[in-house]
Amino acid sequence: MAITEMAELSAILKLTDEEKAWNPDGANTLPLLISDDVEELLDIPAIRRQFVPSGKENDDTTCSLDPQEEKEHQGTERLVHRYRNRAAFFTTDRCFAYCRHCFRRRFTGHLSGPATTREIEEAAAYIREHDEIREVLLTGGDLFTLSDEKIDQMLSIFKKECPAVILRLCTRSVAVYPERITENLIEIIKKHMTGAPFFLMTQFNHGAELTEKAVHAVSLFIDSGIPAYNQSVLLKGVNDDEKTLIELSDRLLMARIKPYYLFQGDPVRGTEHLRVSIERGLEIEKNIRKELSGLGMPQYTADLPQGGGKVILTHTYYRGHTIENGKDRYLFDTPDGETRYYPE
Ligand SMILES: *Cc1c(COP(=O)(O)O)cnc(C)c1O
Ligand code: SF4
Repeated sequence: MAITEMAELSAILKLTDEEKAWNPDGANTLPLLISDDVEELLDIPAIRRQFVPSGKENDDTTCSLDPQEEKEHQGTERLVHRYRNRAAFFTTDRCFAYCRHCFRRRFTGHLSGPATTREIEEAAAYIREHDEIREVLLTGGDLFTLSDEKIDQMLSIFKKECPAVILRLCTRSVAVYPERITENLIEIIKKHMTGAPFFLMTQFNHGAELTEKAVHAVSLFIDSGIPAYNQSVLLKGVNDDEKTLIELSDRLLMARIKPYYLFQGDPVRGTEHLRVSIERGLEIEKNIRKELSGLGMPQYTADLPQGGGKVILTHTYYRGHTIENGKDRYLFDTPDGETRYYPE
């Protein structure tokens, strides 16, 4: 049985004062929900920090609850159209376990529930009418908290209205509740594999989350012809060191999952204690790039406030352009800290 009360947690963990201080009815927070699979990993500090609430969530008075101003970019009730050629559909507000770093906490777990048929149809019609939209993220919350029947219906509607649009299946279920990925669910998805492809978008933040069960769940998608990409969040005390991130990338690649993004934690109120400075993030990015292949390297990315959009954060190797003896030369740092000139 999933854990939903602090009393249940205190029976299995020695809670710290900070954890005990959490107020479920206080400001800026989202519900406590820890799945059985996550419970098995709670001894690992990097897992505990992601799922056990802290009083610091309530105390945080910095930032906004909706820094991306998603509300300002709504196409329909549940559809955010912030980039010209892609949009995000909030399939539900529910998850199998709530992450304490959740950046969509103004919405997540707040009982608006699954999208209604009308909301799905409205979103699909909006996408059909905006033919610049090439990709739609089916996100939330977690898409796979919906019933098989609801998922079948949703995919039917999107595939009928906009068959040429790529659908990204965004889920943390493979990490926190891999049992959800049943043969039946995969059969339903396969039935809709017409037109544009599906992509699976996972969220693993630490190598320990890639359990045998989790890797198996992802393999069911990949073996069906759906490529898998991972989006991690850079989190203080979870994965803000080079060794942890390199190991995460190695384990992802071994599971055939391409590390796609490493997100800078969004400035969402209630998550300050989990954020890493951009300066430290850039240092980590530079260091892990030296150790990882191109396949293993995620893009360190920040989602700018006020709907500014995502930008890649990277150490820059290009130092400038000079002219010598009438010839152009470009100056670069090498990853090992030397310099090189690149002739025009
Ligand atoms: C992140 C995001 C996307 C997808 O962006 P990519 O860079 O293509 O992964 C689309 N819509 C919204 C609202 C987003 O936040
Ligand atoms: S799975 Fe995603 S939406 Fe759900 S709590 Fe975690 S970060 Fe938020």
